Amino acid sequence: MNILILGSGGREHALAWAVMQNPKCDKLIVAPGNAGIAQIAECATLDIEDGAAVVNFCDGNAIDFVIIGPEAPLAKGVADRLRDAGLLVFGPSEAAARLEASKSFTKEICDAALAPTAGYGHFTDAESARAHIRANGAPIVVKADGLAAGKGVIVAETEEQALAAIDDMFGGAFGGAGAEVVIEEFMEGEEASFFVLCDGTDALPIGTAQDHKRIGEGDTGPNTGGMGAYSPAPVLTDAVAAKALDEIIRPTLRVMAERGTPYQGVLYAGLMIKDGQPRLVEYNVRFGDPECQVLMMRLGAQALDLMQAAAEGRLSEVKAQWADDHAMTVVMAAEGYPGSYEKGSVIKGLENCPEDSFNMVFHAGTGEKDGQIIATGGRVLNVTARGDTLQEARDRAYAMVDKIDWPQGVCRRDIGWRALK
Ligand code: ATP
Repeated sequence: MNILILGSGGREHALAWAVMQNPKCDKLIVAPGNAGIAQIAECATLDIEDGAAVVNFCDGNAIDFVIIGPEAPLAKGVADRLRDAGLLVFGPSEAAARLEASKSFTKEICDAALAPTAGYGHFTDAESARAHIRANGAPIVVKADGLAAGKGVIVAETEEQALAAIDDMFGGAFGGAGAEVVIEEFMEGEEASFFVLCDGTDALPIGTAQDHKRIGEGDTGPNTGGMGAYSPAPVLTDAVAAKALDEIIRPTLRVMAERGTPYQGVLYAGLMIKDGQPRLVEYNVRFGDPECQVLMMRLGAQALDLMQAAAEGRLSEVKAQWADDHAMTVVMAAEGYPGSYEKGSVIKGLENCPEDSFNMVFHAGTGEKDGQIIATGGRVLNVTARGDTLQEARDRAYAMVDKIDWPQGVCRRDIGWRALK
């Protein structure tokens, strides 16, 4: 089978690493890829948000199966263009990808599915949004409706902060994404991520994870794309996962199918868990990055079979058998990230890190120059390991971090602190 993966992050390196281990894979191309992916697969230059260009590329390269990594091509309907052209695709349609692209849409689906989530109001004018905040008080959560790269959510501790967020959003701080806002009840609890493959009808859980959004140790400082993750998430016990499936995921799939927009791909449910009861915070329509890295580490080669079964609508025939162990990934970022940072610094010592089914350094923002690996982005490396315990996975991951010679690189030293405390 000839496979094309779209994307260029640590998520796509981990997907490529898992796919390559499956004997079913004859040829793998990743577009655009990165320097780490280039060591295991062919990388190609391609505008991955241009559906017609991706279809042409598939025709020219005899591609049988396309796996879409990031949300942007999904939100632009690239999966639809590929399916229209008769290709097998892993990833939701543009209509189904609204579960991530529009927060008010997700709330409406939760209403129809009777799925537990925060109470909310949806507003298209600032005055009624302000009135809602005054009536409900703080804490309260204000969200720009559309995609705002994780920056369109304000968890307001005071009414003043919430009202200021309304001024910002209707003042155009988030462009089109803020022209509509969702205001939610503040939910207490512990957050965890639940990953489920979907084929339009059936749902197959493939693991749980917890990430670390803040740049600083002890979860302090500004938000980032994610500084590390581990799997499984202890708070997401089998009982909580079963509730999430029965009360949130399956009813969502049912409502999406009834509306003529069945959901196919990976559904990533951000859950808030309190007293054993999960409530939905958000859906994402793709793997999390860096959560994908720990999931792939535990799933290995079968990830390809499972994604193919989802794309072919036969999830009921397969079972996920992830390793009964723990995985952790530590993100190494360029100093200064998530603010401004330098590009082009040289990363050495990667050859000293083991590469096997227990240890992998997945690349994110890397490139190659004069035979050396250089940093080209903010989040640069995902140092990932498995172990019988989370502590063992963590020790292995940080042992690799210490072998990497990159003076301009920084990482949090406390990934997993909540689960290990
Ligand atoms: P990202 O994609 O970066 O995870 P997003 O922009 O899609 O974020 P959400 O996931 O909806 O936004 O919210 C971001 C964070 O804000 C959540 O991970 C959670 O910590 C917090 N949050 C969101 N909604 C609520 C809520 N109703 N109650 C409490 N906390 C919330």
